[in-house]
Amino acid sequence: MDEPLRTDVAVVGAGAAGLYAALVAAEQGASVALVSRSPLAQTASYWAQGGIAAALAAGDSPAQHADDTLTAGREAARASAVRVLCEESPERVRDLQRLGVQFDADRGGSLALGLEGGHSQRRIVHAGGAATGRRITRALSALAATNGRVRVLEPLAATAIASHDGRAAGLTLRPRDGDPLALSARAVILATGGTAALWERTTNPRGAVGSGLSLASDAGAMLADLEFMQFHPTALRLDGPRDGFLVTEAVRGEGATLLNADGERFVDELAPRDEVALAIEAELRRSGEPAVRLDMRGVDVERFPNIAAALAEVGLDPSHDLLPVAPAAHYTMGGIATDLDGRSSLPGLYAVGECACTGIHGANRLASNSLAECLVFARRAALAATTEPALSGAQLAAEPDTPAPPDEATRAALWGQAGLRRDAAGLSELLDDPYPLARLIGAACLAREESRGAHQRTDHPDTDRSLDLMHTLVGKDAAPSFERWQ
Ligand SMILES: Cc1cc2nc3c(=O)[nH]c(=O)nc-3n(C[C@H](O)[C@H](O)[C@H](O)COP(=O)(O)OP(=O)(O)OC[C@H]3O[C@@H](n4cnc5c(N)ncnc54)[C@H](O)[C@@H]3O)c2cc1C
Repeated sequence: MDEPLRTDVAVVGAGAAGLYAALVAAEQGASVALVSRSPLAQTASYWAQGGIAAALAAGDSPAQHADDTLTAGREAARASAVRVLCEESPERVRDLQRLGVQFDADRGGSLALGLEGGHSQRRIVHAGGAATGRRITRALSALAATNGRVRVLEPLAATAIASHDGRAAGLTLRPRDGDPLALSARAVILATGGTAALWERTTNPRGAVGSGLSLASDAGAMLADLEFMQFHPTALRLDGPRDGFLVTEAVRGEGATLLNADGERFVDELAPRDEVALAIEAELRRSGEPAVRLDMRGVDVERFPNIAAALAEVGLDPSHDLLPVAPAAHYTMGGIATDLDGRSSLPGLYAVGECACTGIHGANRLASNSLAECLVFARRAALAATTEPALSGAQLAAEPDTPAPPDEATRAALWGQAGLRRDAAGLSELLDDPYPLARLIGAACLAREESRGAHQRTDHPDTDRSLDLMHTLVGKDAAPSFERWQ
């Protein structure tokens, strides 16, 4: 390996969290290396539809937003992190506006605020209808590309975190072809996205297989709450490549309804996601059908042009047709365990965005809280990372073997054994899976012997109140343990 490249802050991942962390660190005067292995259009951030939750309406407040988040989290969310999220997300929305993102406005020119499941107020800012992620990431990406302090390194995959004196000191980076590179840094910020594409049926880009969680765990950092995978209720159920395409919750906020095989409504469409997904799963079991129907016929489709365009590709017209939908793996509530400034348990290593577990989502993420989390905690982590001490003579670790990517058998096993309903017999099979992260997910699911939010055990159907506010922590070689985060 050649002499290492050097930077103050290495950021892995160029979705909303990584881009924003890179820009904030650069604004602090740090040199930043922004590493990404795939194009912007293959990030979950680019695909985000509904928007960003922020208490901006006159009758709203961060305290009400926090109450809704804690309620959705099913007594498993971390109150301190929720408070930070809800208090700071309005200012982060204003930051984006200052950086040039144009959010949709109402007729009076004020921000148009959408309503989504579990929110007691209209508080979702959006751009281009349901093109919010695309608009935000394009703007941030253009700023990063032209920022003199940000060096964009792509397409390169981070394949190992280098440690020195018990702290993260850099990365090993692998191009598609050619030799690996070493990058040394005072701090490493992982912003690598979630794990939902480890499940066979998913709304996520194929690359969302939790590579940052694997890197962090291999380097010795703790992971938390891996048993909490959110299943989005309304992903298209089709044969072909559009299977899993997400139809945003915002359409239900605008009046779309869900109909069962008898053409009847069966759930409050604006209940939190775990409830709606479970109600759909129960209907599918009852009817033996592969999908329920989403009725968008009363919704102004022009407000959701990218959804209408995607549906047109598969011959569906939402103003006339009922849409076949069913749950799909969508969002990783767990991740790399962090404090309120994104610090992991390994000094010098930070995690932000969907790869992190700040604890704000508990057992069930409230809609549109994740882009807010990306921005709020990316900023906090970037500010903290730029104060890390300079390294002297760091030795970068030798390149370990890159674990083989997860295969279809792993994806089928997670969907089958760690889906909307699980039990010990099925989960135990995951402990032998060849993909290490699947084994850790299996272990975390087994440890939580109760049902709560997104984690429903048929062999433990009740909620165990002694586990309220308890989070599972798991290390590479350690059995899961429970810890209370305040
Ligand atoms: C269809 C869809 C709609 C959604 N809608 C909303 C919404 O309306 N509101 C909301 O709040 N949330 C929404 N979400 C969730 C939200 O989009 C994500 O949680 C969030 O965007 C994650 O951002 P991120 O920056 O953490 O990761 P991502 O945007 O997934 O970016 C990950 C980055 O890491 C890179 N990467 C990964 N591993 C490596 C590696 N080893 N080396 C180098 N680079 C690596 C990838 O190439 C990518 O650049 C939606 C998600 C989906 C899939």
